[in-house]
Amino acid sequence: TKITIAIDGFSSTGKSTVAKQLAKHLGYVYVDTGAMYRAVTFYAMQKKLISTKAFDVASLIKQLPNIRVHFVFNEDVGFAEVYLNDLNVETEIRSLDVSSFVSKVAAISEVRQKLVEQQQKLGAEKGVVMDGRDIGTVVFPDAELKLFMTASAETRAKRRYDELLERGDRVAYEAVLKNVQERDYIDSNREDSPLMKADDAIEIDNSNMSLKEQFDKILHLVNI
Ligand code: C5P
Repeated sequence: TKITIAIDGFSSTGKSTVAKQLAKHLGYVYVDTGAMYRAVTFYAMQKKLISTKAFDVASLIKQLPNIRVHFVFNEDVGFAEVYLNDLNVETEIRSLDVSSFVSKVAAISEVRQKLVEQQQKLGAEKGVVMDGRDIGTVVFPDAELKLFMTASAETRAKRRYDELLERGDRVAYEAVLKNVQERDYIDSNREDSPLMKADDAIEIDNSNMSLKEQFDKILHLVNI
């Protein structure tokens, strides 16, 4: 029988890598909830509602009904890509710029309400792997398997840095580390649905684990 798998944890702990692998192996649907918050943030940036100089929360809330985020499965890459008002923004939302504003946008209750509702619909049928910050606590508190991923901030920043390099973004490692730490801080301390481990989540520190070790461990948990 199919189950719901909730994967939460700090930024760049490799949640999405393992979640994608798991979904593929199990024939489950994978939902990247971080991509949804990133898409809303990208919209806010395009409309100049958020920048280093501005943060117009009221206008962003007012414009929420105009923001349509959805996923389309891409056969070539093997997972669903995120769309903002019918445009594929999968690449744009991974920039360090979006990363630097996303936690502020994700702290807005109205934004969370909209996206959580959509996430619950996307995962209404069992057979889903969803990753984020509040999946086991808020979105699917009844998920049969909950994982909480951690790794040292340096390990995580290095991973994110390598990802950015791979896509051709020239950024300083220090800037990436700072971003990861800032997001962890804002995500853990916001009032609405702060990032935390659900009581019944299993914590996995993957600082010193290979992808294969991680995958095998989780698959074992799925099969218990
Ligand atoms: O997972 P990812 O790093 O792409 O998420 C980007 C940001 O979106 C997080 O740092 C967090 O601020 C926000 N987020 C959230 N709740 C989720 C998923 C992501 O607040 N379920």
